[in-house]
Amino acid sequence: MSEKYDVIVIGAGPAGYAAAIRCAQLGLNTACIDKSVDREGEPTLGGTCLNWGCIPSKALLDASHKYVEAKDHFADMGIKVGDLSIDVPAMIARKDEVVKGLTGGIKGLFQGNGVTPLHGTGKLLARHQVLFTPHDGEPQNLETEHVILAPGSVPVAIPPAPLTDDLIVDSTGALEFDSVPPRLGVIGAGVIGLELGSVWNRLGSEVVVLEALEEFLPMADERIARDAKRMLGSQGLDIRLGTLVTGAEVQGGEVKVSYQDADGEHSLTVDKLIVAVGRRPYTEGLLATDCGVNLDERGFLYVNDLCATDVPHVYAVGDVVRGPMLAHKGTEEGVMVAERIAGFKPLVNYDTVPSVIYTHPEIAWVGKTEQELKADGENYNVGSFSFAASGRALAANDAQGMVKIIADAESDRILGVHVLGPQASELVAQAVIAMEFDASAEDLGLIMFAHPTLSEAVHEAALGVAGHAIHMVNRKRK
Ligand code: FAD
Ligand code: NAD
Repeated sequence: MSEKYDVIVIGAGPAGYAAAIRCAQLGLNTACIDKSVDREGEPTLGGTCLNWGCIPSKALLDASHKYVEAKDHFADMGIKVGDLSIDVPAMIARKDEVVKGLTGGIKGLFQGNGVTPLHGTGKLLARHQVLFTPHDGEPQNLETEHVILAPGSVPVAIPPAPLTDDLIVDSTGALEFDSVPPRLGVIGAGVIGLELGSVWNRLGSEVVVLEALEEFLPMADERIARDAKRMLGSQGLDIRLGTLVTGAEVQGGEVKVSYQDADGEHSLTVDKLIVAVGRRPYTEGLLATDCGVNLDERGFLYVNDLCATDVPHVYAVGDVVRGPMLAHKGTEEGVMVAERIAGFKPLVNYDTVPSVIYTHPEIAWVGKTEQELKADGENYNVGSFSFAASGRALAANDAQGMVKIIADAESDRILGVHVLGPQASELVAQAVIAMEFDASAEDLGLIMFAHPTLSEAVHEAALGVAGHAIHMVNRKRK
């Protein structure tokens, strides 16, 4: 039997690595087991987020956005560029370098903070034991006081569109195309479908997105979703709602997709097809039958609000438990659990988890949507401000979209903030801070924002809740 640990974390994604680092910072003898390997077969830390998710997708989104700016918008600002072309292998190689730098950074953080990385597979056994099977060695039983399970999630597969090596792919494959597919199909108009559909559309693909639901982005505020759909449509994303994909097969190097909608049966031929219909918790091989940890009815590890499982010394965090599958949500859960193990009492506020879709313009929100509040019968006031009236957005030639703030009609407490526009991902952080401190729209309106900034749109929307916005005509004069 080898050394006894205070904490063993299974999974080194943003939930697991944050938990492991925080445990070690708090003086706990911590090991983190992860089985991921990179394309060269070398162990890699950082999980989906760093290797195949948040980071590589943003590297391609940023690169493709710069290309579109140079191609279509620099001239508006008096900047002439000569012949512009794309080097896809170079773009992918740069994305890989960004990933390598960050995953190497986690290795350094483990070393610096004293986390023991264990490369291989972990399985939760009963009685404070974990079975560790190294990539290149014999399985061994490890003893530990506490276990944090953070095995993440994997893409959902659908029977009508089985993945092939490189023509019908999931999000991981869609980050690796070596050239721009002239015709690209995407199944699912969710976050991945829109982000990766945007990347390849910007680089020149004709993109058709097939979405099963009749409604576009039902989790976003209706007004924001409607405007976003129009803007993405005008960029060239052909989003077809209410479609049921019935088959997809490779024929002669192309993909033939068949689908149904209210008008009947259709077919579509594309060069690549991305399947992006959601992710599911990944628990294969994780739990010994007698370990005592249970799943919920949807296959997530069952936990309470404090991420405790049914076994007192075992916790679970990140995509594998209920709640949005977002890196920052997992990280906060990981840190909370580490601090609770060390005897502190932090909480995660699930009411202020921000959501962002990194299209252009970006879509970001926190809190309730107007349709949710309406359905709950709440009384509320709305303030909104269009980037078309923002000096900074106009100066930057990036003035699409709006900020919308919803506040309780009686207390004026901010209930939801929705942003469609440039740097919405950054602007929403202000709303998260305001909501964490239970701010009213008036509080936000009383704060001074630098001029000229995009943030002023948040300020003006907050003033707009009571009809006081300066740079718009107010109908509710008070
Ligand atoms: P993961 O990151 O999935 O990590 C789990 C790790 O555990 C993996 O390395 C896995 O190999 C390992 N593991 C699993 N089982 C075992 C086992 N038994 N033994 C050893 N190791 C095991 N979220 C955002 O917030 N922002 C974004 O911009 C964003 N973009 C995304 C883009 C894409 C294309 C994708 C696919 C996802 C994106 N996400 C984004 C979601 C984000 O990646 C996840 O929410 C996040 O990675 C979840 O973190 P996690 O630590 O729970 O799990
Ligand atoms: P998603 O749940 O966001 O979207 C999946 C979409 O596919 C939904 O609109 C769904 O209605 C549709 N769909 C499901 N089955 C279908 C079918 N058979 N035919 C057509 N459409 C179908 O899932 P995703 O885009 O795969 O992303 C997975 C997870 O990863 C999300 O939970 C998301 O939170 C996370 N993620 C986050 C970010 C970010 O934060 N920016 C980026 C990428 C992924």
